Amino acid sequence: MAHLIVYFPEEERESIEDEGSSDGSSGSFHFSTTPEDEFLPEDGDERAVVPLDPSLAGLHTYLGDCEDLAHSDATLEDGHICKLPVLTFPDVVVMPGCTLPLLVSNSRAHWVVEQALAAPAPYKCLIAVIFSQQRRVARGQIGCTALLRKLHREDNGIWPSTLKVIAEGCQRFEVLEAPRPQATQLHWDVRICSDAPTPRLPREAGIGAAHWAPWAWHACDAWALADTARRLFAEVAPEVAVLRGDPVAVGYWLARNLPVGPAARQRLLEAATPTHRLRAVLAHLRAGAGERLLCRDCQHEIGRAKDSLRITDEGPAGMFVNQGGYVHDLVALRGVRSGSVGLQGRPTTDCSWFRGYAWTIAVCAHCSMHLGWQFTSRSARLSPPSFYGLRRNNLSSRPVAAQGNGLSDMGIAA
Ligand SMILES: [Zn+2]
Repeated sequence: MAHLIVYFPEEERESIEDEGSSDGSSGSFHFSTTPEDEFLPEDGDERAVVPLDPSLAGLHTYLGDCEDLAHSDATLEDGHICKLPVLTFPDVVVMPGCTLPLLVSNSRAHWVVEQALAAPAPYKCLIAVIFSQQRRVARGQIGCTALLRKLHREDNGIWPSTLKVIAEGCQRFEVLEAPRPQATQLHWDVRICSDAPTPRLPREAGIGAAHWAPWAWHACDAWALADTARRLFAEVAPEVAVLRGDPVAVGYWLARNLPVGPAARQRLLEAATPTHRLRAVLAHLRAGAGERLLCRDCQHEIGRAKDSLRITDEGPAGMFVNQGGYVHDLVALRGVRSGSVGLQGRPTTDCSWFRGYAWTIAVCAHCSMHLGWQFTSRSARLSPPSFYGLRRNNLSSRPVAAQGNGLSDMGIAA
């Protein structure tokens, strides 16, 4: 029987049993009674293929009807110092621009959300999110603010009620003073970090009119680095177009979507400038890392980044929350290497993150680590007929050739 240990902010452990045996003999899995094509358009050609709608998955409709919150303009000035209510996650790294779904039912997280809802402008609906694997957060650690955009309050008669929240990553911050490990305070002192767009270097610099060689200027020009990173990522994952925009936006897009583990994502968040972030991403891509996705524990190849599938408007990666409140960080592939993944239990559409798709637990065929899920279409019209949502935290993406791991060299080990 597959048994998944799930973590929640503040490491309140819960467990979820899938109640299905690995041979699929359990009858507890079942298809939902939802009409098969309910999610497909009623008008038009009934045989027309309907592609997976990335904008729909990004709405997190499985959370139910969440209402828009009246929030502040969340942009705080660079260097602004304030106290914000904090959530820590053991394996979630929130970046500016990402969507963070939450299902809050423990008392501390509940209070953090309530404090944010009740805060005056400009802090209304604003929380601070920090990646912390050992519950220790050091002074100077970098996190990201998140704006609570939608909320559904599920009052089931006991306290705390369940809060379903959709938040959006906004601005990096630095922890000014971390509380002692046993401290219970909700608010921490933080300082907002600068993420100012980088000006383009003068054109003359790039054609050798200065004392520096063009390649040296290129290494400092965030706009040129962003163009190169976009091109290299397009070679690795040709079906997924990198967001266009300034170097700040491109750097964060790549940091949000590269198939690297949480420690590497945290280091990309911590990069002091867009130029540093793009250089780290480029070193990773140039080393060939990211082309092959391996099981984190046994290093067997699971799939290739070229099979990446855009599952939300944000790209091939996205965060989804399960009924136990655990936030999973997924990267999607159209297919995996033959024989690399085993499936446990039968497909079910219960609480599926993707409308029209049933999920089945997917484990590494070599070491049985839980890798994620296979999603299979319930309608012949829905395309693709199946895909995999793999947990980024359980993958590694070492370079193909032993020519030095770019991210490791820069202290950003995958
Ligand atoms: Zn494995």
